[in-house]
Amino acid sequence: MRPFTYAAPGTVAATVTALGGAQPGTRILAGGTTLYDLMKLDIETPPAVVDVHRIAELRTIEAGPRELVLGAGARMADVADHPAVKAAYPGLSESLWRAASQQLRTMATVGGNLLQRTRCPYFRNGPEFPCNKRRPGSGCAAVGGHDRTHALLGGSDACVATYAGDFAVMLIALDAVVDVVGPGGERTVPLAGLHVEPGDDPAREHVLAPDELIVRIRVPATPAGRGSTYLKIRDRESYAFALAAAGVGLAVEADGAVGDCRIGLGGVATRPWRAMEAERILIGRPLTPQSARRAGEAAFAEARAGTENGFRIELGVRTVADALRIAGERATR
Ligand code: SF4
Repeated sequence: MRPFTYAAPGTVAATVTALGGAQPGTRILAGGTTLYDLMKLDIETPPAVVDVHRIAELRTIEAGPRELVLGAGARMADVADHPAVKAAYPGLSESLWRAASQQLRTMATVGGNLLQRTRCPYFRNGPEFPCNKRRPGSGCAAVGGHDRTHALLGGSDACVATYAGDFAVMLIALDAVVDVVGPGGERTVPLAGLHVEPGDDPAREHVLAPDELIVRIRVPATPAGRGSTYLKIRDRESYAFALAAAGVGLAVEADGAVGDCRIGLGGVATRPWRAMEAERILIGRPLTPQSARRAGEAAFAEARAGTENGFRIELGVRTVADALRIAGERATR
């Protein structure tokens, strides 16, 4: 690990001031569960770190009648276990407690979780591999290489790294937004516009400026939130990243037709992915095993398999169909 300077401002306003005058490459430290890892691997080499993890105003959890407001510094474990989150947004709670381990969830923040970096082994395991994300212009070892866990959707010839998070997948399905502050003031970014596909610049992963800080996440209160679930399929049932995941929210009308449907895909795309075409197939019709299967197929219609990851297309289709069944049961309770 290389030497760096450390600052811990006590407020959001002081943090914005510190970031405004910071050296290029300065990083915000929240829970530290990703940044410290990447610094030890020499992937992140910030000259300075601004620590926000003790700022009390970032750690609030407020569930109101219109929306859920999560301070970006709230701990994953605290949000996952919050009674109001479990009751009105069960899929959000599941997306958090199915991530990482209890120890990591106790440290990691929800804001930091959104911006976690890929687990692509070529990216993380050493500079000897070509990796456009780590060393722009060097190539991509995963294209044509070992790509069992790489993305099926949203990739490019320059990068097929999977976005590894779960929470953002459920948030994108529920139309969440993030509020960010920087030297220019505050702005709101929809979850759907926060992350970017790699294109020909895989090093760029989101739309935030280096001096901007996520201060809160807001999730609208909807019937689809109450009928939500997050289903994560992985090589083992704990402490593993998704091979395929689906965050689904459903509302069902009195006549049995689907009134609202939200489908997010995780573990299969280069960013949190919303399957809008699959949603359209279901809205206005009864949910059946056949229609759930058709929605799953629509969600993966544009999937592009590489060398070793093709089996995850069918896995993804089934994951979506199963998640729809679970959400359907919740929505009609
Ligand atoms: Fe690097 Fe992306 Fe290729 Fe992985 S998939 S080696 S992160 S460029």
